[in-house]
Amino acid sequence: MSVLRRMMRVSNRSLLAFIFFFSLSSSCLYFIYVAPGIANTYLFMVQARGIMLRENVKTIGHMIRLYTNKNSTLNGTDYPEGNNSSDYLVQTTTYLPENFTYSPYLPCPEKLPYMRGFLNVNVSEVSFDEIHRLFSKDLDIEPGGHWRPKDCKPRWKVAVLIPFRNRHEHLPIFFLHLIPMLQKQRLEFAFYVIEQTGTQPFNRAMLFNVGFKEAMKDSVWDCIIFHDVDHLPENDRNYYGCGEMPRHFAAKLDKYMYILPYKEFFGGVSGLTVQQFRKINGFPNAFWGWGGEDDDLWNRVHYAGYNVTRPEGDLGKYKSIPHHHRGEVQFLGRYQVVLKILKANSQVSKIPGARFVFGTRLRDPDFYQLKLFV
Ligand code: BGC
Repeated sequence: MSVLRRMMRVSNRSLLAFIFFFSLSSSCLYFIYVAPGIANTYLFMVQARGIMLRENVKTIGHMIRLYTNKNSTLNGTDYPEGNNSSDYLVQTTTYLPENFTYSPYLPCPEKLPYMRGFLNVNVSEVSFDEIHRLFSKDLDIEPGGHWRPKDCKPRWKVAVLIPFRNRHEHLPIFFLHLIPMLQKQRLEFAFYVIEQTGTQPFNRAMLFNVGFKEAMKDSVWDCIIFHDVDHLPENDRNYYGCGEMPRHFAAKLDKYMYILPYKEFFGGVSGLTVQQFRKINGFPNAFWGWGGEDDDLWNRVHYAGYNVTRPEGDLGKYKSIPHHHRGEVQFLGRYQVVLKILKANSQVSKIPGARFVFGTRLRDPDFYQLKLFV
């Protein structure tokens, strides 16, 4: 009898342990589903800590080698091995002096005196009235935030597209930060906030497509910036013009401990010329819910024969505005969609280097061609 009771006690404990671990894992899964952004942040934080730890160990090893090897010196060209040397380089590019004189007939330079580098990013809430009060003093800002420099010819006409839903407190913070920065960069610009109505999962990519079409009806833009409303650049030398290649501006996010989460990461803030955007056939429309659409954009860009450029060193640092409300639910099927689109056109040539999806290397990455905005 006592043996049976003992056995029962053991099985009760295992049952309790099972219930405990079952509820723990289901709550974890639920959390990952409803708050994918936060879950990803944790994931990348762990990853980043690992990388930083490894780099530190390497650096310590390097220092030891330096002291034990009398012939080597730590001069400006000697970087701890394995590190991205661009992170260690002091910006060598020269910015124009304060007394530089502009000419209304000449293109605005890209490295202007007022672009001083690090910005003090203040994420405290501010009202729209306050923004209005501040910017209505600047009579050159037209409706839609449209501004153009008068003292030189803007190098780029930039439409900033912002996909939007339930982030009313973010918009004024965003404008407060972005307008002065783009003015300092002497770009012609306007903002387009594309709001999704209804209760369907958020479709960031489709909102960008809509925004692109509407913006082009409005004016002749030549550079389109695809911008999350909660991302604020920390450096005004992160120039918001376009280039020969599509650009990923948000290379180092505070939420990922300023480390690129993976090589193909193309989220947050990116920019393409109108020509490039047409050539890659826009964003995909098939991504409902959080995630995946930026991965697909990366594939489109590479399929079209482009490479992505990123700002050097600390220029691509961004701060995220904290969220007070529930985020968008995760699109669980996103990798299947990325894969399906990849496979849609098997006749086109393959691009070397498959994309890692949580440790699974996509085999046979056939690239694709879709009709405009499918
Ligand atoms: C998602 C991307 C997202 C990235 C970083 C990936 O799992 O598919 O859309 O940008 O994580 O958060």
